[in-house]
Amino acid sequence: MQSYDIKDIKLAPTGHQKIEWVKAHMMLLNHLEEDFQKNQPFKGMRIALSIHLEAKTAYLCKVLAAGGADMYVTGSNPLSTQDDVAAALVEDGLKVYAHYGASDEQYFADLNQSLEDGRPHIIIDDGGDLVNIVHTERRDLLPNILGGNEETTTGVIRLRAREKEGILEFPMIDVNDAYCKHLFDNRYGTGQSVWDGINRTTNLIVAGKYVVVAGYGWCGKGVAMRAKGLGAKVVVTEIDPIKAMEAKMDGFEVMNMLEAARIGDIFVTVTGCNKVIRKEHYEVMKDGAILSNAGHFDVEVWKPDLEAVAVEVKESRKNIMGYKMADGRWIYLLAGGRLVNLAAGDGHPAEIMDMSFAIQALSAKYIVEKGKTLGNKVHHVPEEIDRFVAWLKLKTMGIEIEHLTQEQEKYLSSWGE
Ligand code: NAD
Ligand code: SAH
Repeated sequence: MQSYDIKDIKLAPTGHQKIEWVKAHMMLLNHLEEDFQKNQPFKGMRIALSIHLEAKTAYLCKVLAAGGADMYVTGSNPLSTQDDVAAALVEDGLKVYAHYGASDEQYFADLNQSLEDGRPHIIIDDGGDLVNIVHTERRDLLPNILGGNEETTTGVIRLRAREKEGILEFPMIDVNDAYCKHLFDNRYGTGQSVWDGINRTTNLIVAGKYVVVAGYGWCGKGVAMRAKGLGAKVVVTEIDPIKAMEAKMDGFEVMNMLEAARIGDIFVTVTGCNKVIRKEHYEVMKDGAILSNAGHFDVEVWKPDLEAVAVEVKESRKNIMGYKMADGRWIYLLAGGRLVNLAAGDGHPAEIMDMSFAIQALSAKYIVEKGKTLGNKVHHVPEEIDRFVAWLKLKTMGIEIEHLTQEQEKYLSSWGE
């Protein structure tokens, strides 16, 4: 019997449309779908997957199912689940547990149900929620688990912390750290989709404004680069002197948040840290300042302080909450401080998620192949997978690269020439 818990199965038609659209732009997943259909690498495997449940993720789930996996699918953020996409997946015969706008209670109930029904062999996680549950409340599920994958930076940081303390109970692959993931997804994916989310939500001009980007890691570099392209005056805040120097050399202003808070029109946090924007910053911001976050969790823009200093709170437009300060200034928060690109948009473009999810699918296959022989550690994505994904992506784009001649190979590998 198929089990599921979603908003409404009747929403499926637009969900199918969305999945069809991304499928036409995800050539690597097209290739893997065909290959998996033939070779059935996941036959007999149950996979629990928690990734933002929108169309690209749905297509990844279908590709894994085509390879023989029994899929138990849930979201990874209460505001990024798209109910029509969830319904389409249910119609396609997958088990889905996810709701847009879920309360914390419902969100974790969905995650728990996917684990309860799935009793998974493999866990595919984005941010570490499933992994955390099986290490705490559902330790009874541990013996079944061969291993898993983690999609994002913050999730990998947490896995490494578990590994360091010796309390990681199965092997995990750090998909985020593959070149074909963070170089493209975190940088160009976040760079584009953050501005897509902000622009469609606010419908305001970016050119000529001061944009403050907190964090100049892979995501921050993309967000700053695209803000510059839109004509903004870009300010970067950092805690790492090398990254701060890099931002300066890339042509951005670098200062601390207290200084930046006074001049910023639009703020984007992408640090993975908490309380990056807090009370002392709200006190000096300009009237009309717009705040958003694209890092893991709604803790980077610290909402308790914003709520504490506000004398009035009102919804100004869908996904925009206005907070009035005692002196009459208004500060606006997008998407409740959750990932603005996913909670107020559709996330990264299909062609980008094509690479990230090809790495996911091939890493899951790698776990099946290695079985229990992988140690309970955080493992890198094998280099062959990373290179294969880049090679195939180029091929699907019709791009030929150079190949070394024998003479060149010798030249590059010898000390004598
Ligand atoms: P990263 O480690 O490359 O970069 C984070 C940067 O933030 C670092 O340079 C760090 O020095 C800096 N930083 C930390 N605390 C800071 C603070 N208080 N003030 C200013 N700078 C600070 O990580 P990344 O890959 O860029 O990911 C950043 C976050 O975004 C993570 O939480 C990750 O999970 C998330 N992420 C989101 C998306 C998305 O679609 N929105 C995509 C990928 C990653
Ligand atoms: N549960 C966390 C997850 C962090 S999200 C949270 O909600 O805060 C960051 C990850 O989302 C990135 O690593 C990226 O690969 C993924 N992502 C971005 N766009 C996406 C999309 N369109 N579909 C699925 N995942 C996406």
